[in-house]
Amino acid sequence: MSRAWNFSAGPAALPEAVLERAQAELLEWNGSGASVMELSHRGKPFMALAAAAEARLRRLLGVPANYKVLFLQGGATQHFAQIPMNLAGPGDHADYIVTGHWGEKAVREAAPYIDARVAATSEAAHYLALPPRASWQLSPGAAYVHYTPNETIHGVEFHDVPDVGGVPLVADMSSNILSEPVDVSRFGLIYAGAQKNIGPSGLVVMVVRDDLLERAGRPMAKIFRYAEHAANDSMLNTPNTWGWYLAGLTFEWLEAQGGLAAMGARNALKAKTLYDAIDGSGGFYRSPVELASRSRMNVPFTLHDSMLDAAFLQESEAAGLLALKGHKAVGGMRASLYNAVPPEAVDVLVKFMRDFATRHG
Ligand code: PMP
Repeated sequence: MSRAWNFSAGPAALPEAVLERAQAELLEWNGSGASVMELSHRGKPFMALAAAAEARLRRLLGVPANYKVLFLQGGATQHFAQIPMNLAGPGDHADYIVTGHWGEKAVREAAPYIDARVAATSEAAHYLALPPRASWQLSPGAAYVHYTPNETIHGVEFHDVPDVGGVPLVADMSSNILSEPVDVSRFGLIYAGAQKNIGPSGLVVMVVRDDLLERAGRPMAKIFRYAEHAANDSMLNTPNTWGWYLAGLTFEWLEAQGGLAAMGARNALKAKTLYDAIDGSGGFYRSPVELASRSRMNVPFTLHDSMLDAAFLQESEAAGLLALKGHKAVGGMRASLYNAVPPEAVDVLVKFMRDFATRHG
């Protein structure tokens, strides 16, 4: 077996212990005589699994009792459209803080349903620095404020939850959920595609305050209504049972690691190791992102001479370092350091980068 150190932005590395457990239980799960993928979602064993996964997530995140936890599908992208449908009525407006590609997309997908206003954007700064809170033009009467705490492509991350007064704050946490402790009570709604810090793709985890569930004021099919999903324990139709199972295993693994405080400390250290190597390379490597806005999860960096990019990618792959190619919108390299990427992987990467710089400097 030869598993590489995987720096993919998503679908991304899963904890090896989770994969091993899933492998061991693949053919026959929990005395049921079948794989977990082959069982009815309405049967007692799966219902118990689903409830246990939710309970673990609630413990990990410290979800208050007046919030629902939903296990949905459609990717974060579908919810770019579904959130405005549910949280605002026709004619309402909402404010969007756009700090990169995913925030842009959230605005575009909301626009058919509401007046989606860009209250702040760092587009002029090429999304390499967050717009200062003082520059945000929040509009009175907004149904909610939407932002992207971590922009996966540009590698910018909010290190505090912005204060938006009493307006419900909606956060696309696809690429930083569960990476450190968070005060859920500061948010109206948190959502995340699973394929970075939770499990396989095809699952979306949502945490939403009860009072926001009945806001829509527009005709909608049941399947689009979060209130219906909540009333049916996310089993309005057949859920992604395999994804839910793996998410539960990941939550269990996170608890065994010491929970989000421990993960936060570990993630901070991993990011520091990599940024220190970039900053200390004498200009061979460069982080394009403003210091205060740097992401702990996604670290884009460039080589001083882009002619070396191909050699860097080829040699890193040969050294067992996977998926370091940057997104085409930004270029260069990107290392994603989600929860399942162990500190050892970052140490190997940093050593490779130093050796590469010596050989090609
Ligand atoms: N938001 C963010 C922050 C993301 O990183 C991604 C995917 N990389 C998405 C949304 C889109 O997610 P999906 O492909 O699950 O729709």
